[in-house]
Amino acid sequence: MKQFKEIHAQLVVKSLSHPSPSLRPIISFSALDPSGEINYALLLLLFRTSLASSVFLFNTVIRGLARVIHGRPGFGWSSLLVLNRMAELNLAPNNFTFTFLFQGFSNCCAFDLGRQFHGMLIKKSLVMDVFVRNSVIQFYSVCGEMNSARRVFDQSDEIDIVSWNSIINGYVRNGDMSEALNLFDKMPKRNDVSWNSVLGGLVKFSFLDDAYRLFMEIPRRTLVSWVVMISGYAQNGRPKEALALFRSMLSMDQEANSAILVSVLSACAQLGALEHGNWVYSYIQKKHVIIDSILSAALIDMYAKCGTIDLAMQVFNSSKVKCVSTYTTAIYGLAMNGRSKEALQLFDHLRAGGISPDSISYIAVLSACSHEGWVDRGFHYFNSMLDAGIRPELDHYACMVDLLGRAGLLEEAEQLIISMPIKPDSAIWGALLGACRVHANAEMGRRVGNLLIQSDKNHDGRYILLSNIYAESMKGEDAEEVRRTMRKRKIKRVPGCSLIEVDGVVHEFLAGDKSHEKTEDIYRVWDEVVKEIKKLGYIAETRKVAFNIEEEEKETLIGYHSEKLAVAFGLICTEPGSLIRIVKNIRICNDCHSAIKLVSKVFKRKISVRDRKRYHHFEDGQCSCMDYW
Ligand code: ZN
Ligand code: ZN
Repeated sequence: MKQFKEIHAQLVVKSLSHPSPSLRPIISFSALDPSGEINYALLLLLFRTSLASSVFLFNTVIRGLARVIHGRPGFGWSSLLVLNRMAELNLAPNNFTFTFLFQGFSNCCAFDLGRQFHGMLIKKSLVMDVFVRNSVIQFYSVCGEMNSARRVFDQSDEIDIVSWNSIINGYVRNGDMSEALNLFDKMPKRNDVSWNSVLGGLVKFSFLDDAYRLFMEIPRRTLVSWVVMISGYAQNGRPKEALALFRSMLSMDQEANSAILVSVLSACAQLGALEHGNWVYSYIQKKHVIIDSILSAALIDMYAKCGTIDLAMQVFNSSKVKCVSTYTTAIYGLAMNGRSKEALQLFDHLRAGGISPDSISYIAVLSACSHEGWVDRGFHYFNSMLDAGIRPELDHYACMVDLLGRAGLLEEAEQLIISMPIKPDSAIWGALLGACRVHANAEMGRRVGNLLIQSDKNHDGRYILLSNIYAESMKGEDAEEVRRTMRKRKIKRVPGCSLIEVDGVVHEFLAGDKSHEKTEDIYRVWDEVVKEIKKLGYIAETRKVAFNIEEEEKETLIGYHSEKLAVAFGLICTEPGSLIRIVKNIRICNDCHSAIKLVSKVFKRKISVRDRKRYHHFEDGQCSCMDYW
């Protein structure tokens, strides 16, 4: 643009200014080139055009304006100036003018103005070609006016595949999947855009099974459709399906792009599937996929969540481009693996290195403090947020309440909640309730718990916590009452579930699960394990787990929590001396924690268990969390 202006200045100085032929490339470049300046084009158009100018110039500028002002207001005003100048020069707008105009109205959601122009088109009986009509349909869809969009669509005598795609995409955008599918079925001919738009809609609104059926019908699957489907599974908590689809994609010789790899790594992280994750990393290296900051963050996250924090840090250290999310992922990973000191060092390093931490970085650093019970440091970072110009949000308060609560400072935690400038949500009260139970404060627990089951009626965990608090303070009847309410409201408990990957296959266990093909061996081995660890003083603790299971389940299940079964399976199926890695969806209970500590000592195994909050690395009778979790 700078050189462009220099040349333009030469034209002016040499009095060669603005014969129409030289204006045209200047305006085209300024209006449409990514490095151009649209305002320069606009000024030239408004002040340097003459009667000899062509409509093409004006259309070019409107087209440029429509693109540049994407999402920003102001298009309406500038486009009116252009149209006004056209009128001064007696130039009539043509179909291209209107197509670009409506694209601009869509991009900046200028509903009133767009509707007036549509009205004018009808009133003046201007012939709308298919391009104008499609841009009008698109315009109404974007503005959420599906009835108007549909009327234009239905009343058109000439519609093409773009019209179909625009109207269907409009229904998808506005959340009306049944009408979108209805029209999709009626389409005379479909292209990639049609398939991907409906597929994307089904995934977006979590109709994953329907999406998969549609996906299987696609005659020619594009890379985009693979991305949509695989990331749909990964982001909706169905990591196993994401991995399966990824494998079938590779078997069809379809190369993965970086978006797919990010989703697949997230699926590996959710499952704790290290072998898969390693394989993806070697695929990335083999195919020379460029590791940008998003992909490197996904790799760090995967290794950290698989409990291999050293590998995560290797990826971190070798990343050429580090952005704030690369750091944040590493800080979070260190914290969850019990290496909070390094997490804080890395955070300080980030700040010193001139990258400003964002709101999520503070969540990572606060959770590091919370894992260790570092109250003062937690407050130090919490208070420094405001200095950095970041307003604490609900998540930050939740970390602080968790930190105070776990450190036993229940009064302070409650005070912090009351003094919050934003309305506390149930997650924050839930953190306090959890702390009340750990520190056996029945009085506060009752107050907070009753408040919670009134406001957050469908969350199973609240009822169970409250009923446990009652039970543990010898109020058996109140505990029973809470469980009755829970049953009455038909609230299902999310079952605890543990995953373990052996030879690339992920095995899944529920508490008291008898569905695995090796069930007999697993139970036999676990019973033997219990005999062994009892010699070291293990006493099955039933106080805390007594009500963790549903009524109809038998007492005997207490001893067979899912992570215990997974450990037994690990002992059977992995090499002696090798690491056993388990992923659990809810927090590990006291009983499992102390049992697994002893297993690591007796059987000389390193065992790592990732629960909902953090990693427990068990070794030689100790846990990396130092029994603080
Ligand atoms: Zn347990
Ligand atoms: Zn632990």
